[in-house]
Amino acid sequence: MEPPTVRRSLLHRLQQVADAQKRAGRQGRSHTRSLEGVGMKKCKVCKSLFNPYSSLAVACSQNCALVHVQNENDKKAAKVKKQSRKELTEFKRRNIRWQHDQCQTSFNRMRVQEELMWFSRRGLEPECISCGKIKMDWCCGHFKTVGAQSGIRYDRMNTYLQCNRYCNQALSGNLDGNKNTRGYKRGLSERFGEDAARQIIEHCESKTAPVKWDWQEMEAWRKEWNEQFRELQRQREAA
Ligand SMILES: [Zn+2]
Ligand SMILES: [Zn+2]
Repeated sequence: MEPPTVRRSLLHRLQQVADAQKRAGRQGRSHTRSLEGVGMKKCKVCKSLFNPYSSLAVACSQNCALVHVQNENDKKAAKVKKQSRKELTEFKRRNIRWQHDQCQTSFNRMRVQEELMWFSRRGLEPECISCGKIKMDWCCGHFKTVGAQSGIRYDRMNTYLQCNRYCNQALSGNLDGNKNTRGYKRGLSERFGEDAARQIIEHCESKTAPVKWDWQEMEAWRKEWNEQFRELQRQREAA
């Protein structure tokens, strides 16, 4: 029979082992359970088992301790970076100009797909509204420019398929044509007929009232246009 104090300390030790085993088991480290149970720890860096010199030790050696500090700092820095990116996005979202940049890109590329679909549904070769040429560097050509009438910058009636470098950029939309090309207005007539073309032009010329833009509404539009773009692109690829 052992003296009671020895038995008590032995019981206490067994209890510690059992507790440590429970802890290790909970953390899914079953293979090291028994050794960790007797006071060994797993190094956070190299994963080897070591005898901790204090209850706070997490690394087996000075080297691993340094690596651990570096890792923790990297983690903190990444967290700070993520947070500031998030704050910047939040700030930008409320900025109408930023919203316009995003929205115009989304709307324009969706309109190009919509226009290509318009032609393909009719079995026609897509052509530039202003010069009538085919197989061009397509863009979404505004009849009334964003600078002139910003209120209809996202208006389908104000935008048709156009060649980018020649009519859109070099000739600022090529509205009235030149000796080689018909121009936007004639293009509308040839495509939709005289009456419809006149209505389109009247519509664009009458919409001069300034628009009060709302960033949340703009985000909703953008989401819709992006979905439409993907859907149209998918349909055209499948065709
Ligand atoms: Zn280590
Ligand atoms: Zn053109």
